[in-house]
Amino acid sequence: MLATVASATLVGVEGQAVSVEVHVANGLPGLRVVGLPDASCREARDRVRAALMSSGFKWPQKRVTVNLAPSGLRKAGSGLDLAIALGTLIADGQAPWQPAARLSFIAELGLDGSLRPVTGTLPLAAAVATAEVVVAPASAHEATLVGRVGVRTAPDLRTLIGILEGRDRWPQPPPRGSYPPGPPPPDLAEVKGQVLGRQALEVAAAGGHHLLLVGPAGAGKTMLALRLPGLLPPLQPEEALEVARVHSAAGLQVGISGLSPRPPFRAPHHSASAVALVGGGGARLRPGEISCAHRGVLFLDELAEFPGAVLDNLRQPLEEGRIVVCRATATVSFPARFMLVGAMNACRCGADGSPGSCSCPEVSRARYTARVSGPLLDRFDLRVRVRRPEVEDLLGAGGPAEATNEPTHVVAARVAMARDMARARAVRANADLETSALERHATLGPAAKRILERRLTDGRLSARGLGRIRRVALTIADLAGDEVPLGEEHVLLALALRATGVLGREDQVPAAATFGKSGEGLAQVPA
Ligand SMILES: [Zn+2]
Repeated sequence: MLATVASATLVGVEGQAVSVEVHVANGLPGLRVVGLPDASCREARDRVRAALMSSGFKWPQKRVTVNLAPSGLRKAGSGLDLAIALGTLIADGQAPWQPAARLSFIAELGLDGSLRPVTGTLPLAAAVATAEVVVAPASAHEATLVGRVGVRTAPDLRTLIGILEGRDRWPQPPPRGSYPPGPPPPDLAEVKGQVLGRQALEVAAAGGHHLLLVGPAGAGKTMLALRLPGLLPPLQPEEALEVARVHSAAGLQVGISGLSPRPPFRAPHHSASAVALVGGGGARLRPGEISCAHRGVLFLDELAEFPGAVLDNLRQPLEEGRIVVCRATATVSFPARFMLVGAMNACRCGADGSPGSCSCPEVSRARYTARVSGPLLDRFDLRVRVRRPEVEDLLGAGGPAEATNEPTHVVAARVAMARDMARARAVRANADLETSALERHATLGPAAKRILERRLTDGRLSARGLGRIRRVALTIADLAGDEVPLGEEHVLLALALRATGVLGREDQVPAAATFGKSGEGLAQVPA
């Protein structure tokens, strides 16, 4: 007899509906799974057999063939266990077919027959073709985030069959925990001094600009970066759902207290593997850290310590907002639109890199900073030097910086205002403005034009740099509540916040040496 049960499998961060067809016929007893299952999927054989028997069902002494359709799609993970078990029971006449036909089933089976949660429940539940889905009780909150799909749970296979036969009722899904959404991000008021650093942080948050902080060890670069998430506006519901899908596919905990509106902040260590950062892995390609930072902040501390190959991998996401991972088994595109914040010392020894600040030879200092390539350095709209705070800043002795120690909520209000203005220009933040839109939205006043002309003529500014300066200057004007055309003060501050020579070398990139030259398969960089 033949039975068909609906389920889903994960491809990247997207779910795909799968039909599990089970055929039970006379022949040599055994179970065969066909239709491109991966290793964990093939292991379902052993789990399903044990789960069935320990739940008090008979294992059919016949030939059982399981086909996972569509057969061209590679199936990964253990989420098809329940559908395979149920299909076997229906095809063998041990469970009713009718009630199961209206449902999809997504759960791993324990050897004792219990339903267990699987990675990617959110995108999986979103992909099912039926109006209701059955998941493990521990996955219920996550599946509920989908919204349009009814969520049912059962603790184990035996109870589930009882419900389908009409002997039992669906148990109430576990109540949503009232877990607090974690401690709030640290407050900006705790940062003493750091006038330029604070300013850069505010502009970065308001305009979505990538930020590089360079300075000696202990100057407070990390302290500044950790305060960025608190300045960012909360995610829109559809963005929060997008983030939750990626996190679900990456195996992170999702949905315990509903959709989190907080932008993610990911700070992978420089010793993390390329796969952990970029994504990929075995048969099932998982999103990496850069995708987990989607719609939030990717903070790379000790930027120069990251392997060059890993930093090269940032090019595509910085241009396109996604990363394509190719493996022998599949090619998958993961979303990866993040704000990049880098922090680094100007010298390996941790000194601030200015002449005479340490005794390292010039050549070793240059070699260290050269690990951040010119094109990558060029991606940072904001590059600032952070110095160790002055003694009076630390002691709060009413120094000149005292008045600027604004708390997070004050700065965040200005950032929200600037983001509103960007939305009126049909982008999320000014960093997303196309070059063509700059003419319309970031017009230059005569004084601003003169300053930029001079920089362009003497070669201190490239055509691409000009676009970046205009976007940053527009953000600065937005924060100050000023109207365009952009004035001298906006452009001068933008130039100061994008210091050239921040790494003690000429960091202008010749126009030809852009990211994504044709042949690299990347998008052309807008000027
Ligand atoms: Zn040194």
